Amino acid sequence: MAIAPTKPRKSFSQSVNLMVERAMQHVNIPEGLKQQIIACNNVIEVQFPIVMDDGSVRTIKGWRAVHSDHRSPAKGGIRYAANVNQDEVIALASLMTYKCAIVNVPFGGSKGGVKIDPRDFSESELERITRRYAYELILKGYISSGGNVPAPDMGTGQREMSWISDVYRSMHPDDINHFACVTGKPVANGGIQGRVEATGRGVQYALQEFFRHPRDMEMAGLSGSLEGKRIVVQGLGNVGFHAAKFLQEEDGAHIICIIERDGAIIDENGLNVQSVRDYMDEYGGIQGYPEGKYVADGIKCLELDCDILIPAALESQITVDNAERIQARLIIEAANGPITFDADEILRQRGIVIIPDAYANAGGVTVSYFEWLKNLSHVRFGRMTRRLDEYRMKQIIDAMELLTGKQLPDSVKKNLTLPTEELVMVRSGLEDTMRLAYQEISQAFHEQPNIHDFRTACFYISIKKIAQTYLDMGIWP
Ligand code: NAD
Repeated sequence: MAIAPTKPRKSFSQSVNLMVERAMQHVNIPEGLKQQIIACNNVIEVQFPIVMDDGSVRTIKGWRAVHSDHRSPAKGGIRYAANVNQDEVIALASLMTYKCAIVNVPFGGSKGGVKIDPRDFSESELERITRRYAYELILKGYISSGGNVPAPDMGTGQREMSWISDVYRSMHPDDINHFACVTGKPVANGGIQGRVEATGRGVQYALQEFFRHPRDMEMAGLSGSLEGKRIVVQGLGNVGFHAAKFLQEEDGAHIICIIERDGAIIDENGLNVQSVRDYMDEYGGIQGYPEGKYVADGIKCLELDCDILIPAALESQITVDNAERIQARLIIEAANGPITFDADEILRQRGIVIIPDAYANAGGVTVSYFEWLKNLSHVRFGRMTRRLDEYRMKQIIDAMELLTGKQLPDSVKKNLTLPTEELVMVRSGLEDTMRLAYQEISQAFHEQPNIHDFRTACFYISIKKIAQTYLDMGIWP
């Protein structure tokens, strides 16, 4: 008997493009423009040697893709991962394009990757890798405040962004906007309050907004608020940790399972997210965590019965292999691409509601945009108005008390005259952005007759905005 050939799996970028093409059917724009929007404009591969601490030499490979520069600069994180490849970087860059459009951040889409597992390198080796990678990209025009602005992603953080900014400054000493060449920097070195938590915070705001929409909740078979909702989180890194922590501490949700690379911990009564994170920081993983039940086959826990599933680690975690067994009512994609195209089709047919990555994890780029604006304006948000606002508010309180002959309670006065700190402004800007974008997606979903899921609604809105930019600026002869 002939063996049926196995169907080749779709690559990450093929998967994203199929999802985008599904949405494109609903947008009335020229065919050629559709192809331009989907295509990756350019991608560079770099290879360079670095000296290891023991004196040996290692060759390192990296990429930076610019999916779209219909707006400048192009924006997107840099990922350090052992199996990152060109296709992955292109897929992530394309998601950045749609992400920026959905949250009205006026950037194109880009992404970078370096093929290393950062855990295999010392800090000084990582510094040499980062500086050399940055040097290669800057030299070739792939990093600048007006052209292409990286940020952190998996395996990178403030430290790496600070090194990149320093390399850029040394190569462009006269560029007074040098800080704006990269975002996600430490606050003392050109960064902004609230950037580290931003993506996780954005996930929280997205969920809070979902629970303000009864029709959407009903679709997922959910009701009430986030309080007491049973949540499974995959990945307790930057994004997963902040999302889970805020949902637990501020919204009263129960984090019943945390899945990490070395297994999962389940506790039906709810895990203490901060305590799990502290344990991971100390022991390098979650195995051995003293509370809850440990499960070695962590990925199996994506299939647990829960209200909300938050994949916040890697792409391609929900595939045709496990999509039929997913029991969550609502999935919010904190990671990029955690659900493959084929799995997405299965989940949609099963009526599982998905809040898609292009919107759900846009909090990071939103606050990166604020940081970039701060760097270009060379002044901290609120510096000129903080005292003025406080003084004006005092005057209003005095006037109210004078007119009514009554005293406002001290606690009310204190709240009204609190100085508006940068962090408060950043969170407020982020919340507003996430709420408005959700409302746009939900509206498109409910009003467009042939759109039956949030992902298609999200891409539909993004594509319309990107196409409009192309049509408004005109296409060069
Ligand atoms: P991170 O490196 O800080 O954290 C990733 C976490 O996932 C780590 O705790 C790691 O141990 C865990 N992990 C790795 N492999 C795993 C596996 N097989 N199973 C379970 N857990 C595993 O990365 P991050 O910045 O939190 O990024 C996570 C996801 O969010 C990525 O898809 C990234 O592209 C996306 N994202 C990040 C940002 C950002 O601002 N950092 C913004 C938008 C999107």
